[in-house]
Amino acid sequence: MKVSIRKFQKEDIKKKVEWINNPENNRYLHYDLPLEYEKTLDWFEKNKDRTDRYDAVIECGGEAVGLIGLLSVDRKNSKAEYYISMGETSVKRKGVAFRASRLLLDYAFLTLRLNKVYAYTEIDNVPFQRLAESLGFLREGVLKADIYSRGSYVDRIVYGMSVRDFLSRRGGTPVGFFGNLGENRLYVKREDLIPFSFGGNKARKAKLFFEEVDGGGFDCVVTYGSGSSNHCRVVANMCAQRGLDCVVISPLEASERTFNSVLMDEFGARIICVPVSEVHDTIEKTLAELRSSGKNPFFIQGGGHGDTGTRAYRECYDEIKSYEAENNLFFDYIFFASGTGTTQAGLVCGQLIYGDDRKIVGISVARKNPYGRNVVLDSVRSFLKDAPEEAIQASTHFVDGYVGGGYGTYGDKIKNTVRRVMVKYGIPLDSTYTGKAFCGMEEYVKSNGISGKNILFIHTGGTPLFFDFLRGTHNI
Ligand SMILES: *Cc1c(COP(=O)(O)O)cnc(C)c1O
Repeated sequence: MKVSIRKFQKEDIKKKVEWINNPENNRYLHYDLPLEYEKTLDWFEKNKDRTDRYDAVIECGGEAVGLIGLLSVDRKNSKAEYYISMGETSVKRKGVAFRASRLLLDYAFLTLRLNKVYAYTEIDNVPFQRLAESLGFLREGVLKADIYSRGSYVDRIVYGMSVRDFLSRRGGTPVGFFGNLGENRLYVKREDLIPFSFGGNKARKAKLFFEEVDGGGFDCVVTYGSGSSNHCRVVANMCAQRGLDCVVISPLEASERTFNSVLMDEFGARIICVPVSEVHDTIEKTLAELRSSGKNPFFIQGGGHGDTGTRAYRECYDEIKSYEAENNLFFDYIFFASGTGTTQAGLVCGQLIYGDDRKIVGISVARKNPYGRNVVLDSVRSFLKDAPEEAIQASTHFVDGYVGGGYGTYGDKIKNTVRRVMVKYGIPLDSTYTGKAFCGMEEYVKSNGISGKNILFIHTGGTPLFFDFLRGTHNI
């Protein structure tokens, strides 16, 4: 279930009153009970425009389920106090508080750029202490007889988290400085180093898809893609790891043997090759057959397209923000290979959420405009239901000028780029995705006269394709 947080609104007052008055929730809260609607409305009207606090509502699957926020936002000392109070008892103990708190900490450290977040908790509020510690808060000390509550003086524990600790826990794939690109500074984010099945953006997406598979009682996975698909290789590996059946529907026109297809065989995936025009019907038929034989299949769209894939790169955007905050720099441009556009959609969603003024440029590896860009727009709209249309349009740069002869085709320019990058940086690119994107980025930067900027190239993976490239260029 998707967990999100948003600003507290007038319409939430009724729920707040109900939650706070529930004895299962208010043991450690300090309100004059029972809380009344009129008083709470007063509180809301008085406080709604204050900038020294942030009151938010936790939503789970679109339903309001609790309260969270920051108090005493102190700009001078760059710190704030974190609070959380779950309201709906049905969602307790399901990790919702943890996920909501992570979102709040993102807001505190990445949007407000605070230096410290702290929290107080009564000495016997063990559930909160567990939550704080699992989030990475450090126990800083005990304040003796700190408050008067329900007839006695009680000790409180104070927890704290610094921006350094927050950032170092976030981690993410490494980012390296690679020197100059024209008059610009070039950085590369190594998604190819995600530690599963040769990594890549399909590994980041698959991790989230398989959280759904693991949580939903599914016993097999169906997906589709070509014989050179990184997505199908990672999905087949994920299935094999769990002992789940994996069915890959593959278009006959693109079912040549590659290192990825050999790996799929190695993982025991069942590959069904049909003409591309029959792929859609074959998927439906396969799913129906599996269901009628008593199986419960999980279907993943080709390339890991869809809201879950978008979420993977929405989260990657947070990693980029963390890197920037930690290193005190800002990427003016972000380039990468765009295929189904899911990676791009996730990054654009991140940009829209934070309101960052930068250019995210997807270099198309196959699709032409307007189709290619429209798919990205649709993915963004689907993921961020209330983002303004002008902002979505303004943030979506899908460049189709470097697709050459189409998907998988390449000429000498790309061949030379792959060789040059391997020699100069020791990084394998491939001729279908990352080589094309790198080459496209270099030309884009030159032809648009970009200089004096920080540029991030996202290496989206595809390492097995590098070996196909070697085999193709050396007749192995
Ligand atoms: C699939 C893939 C892409 C394209 O990602 P999308 O999210 O489909 O746009 C880029 N690079 C590599 C190596 C890929 O495997």
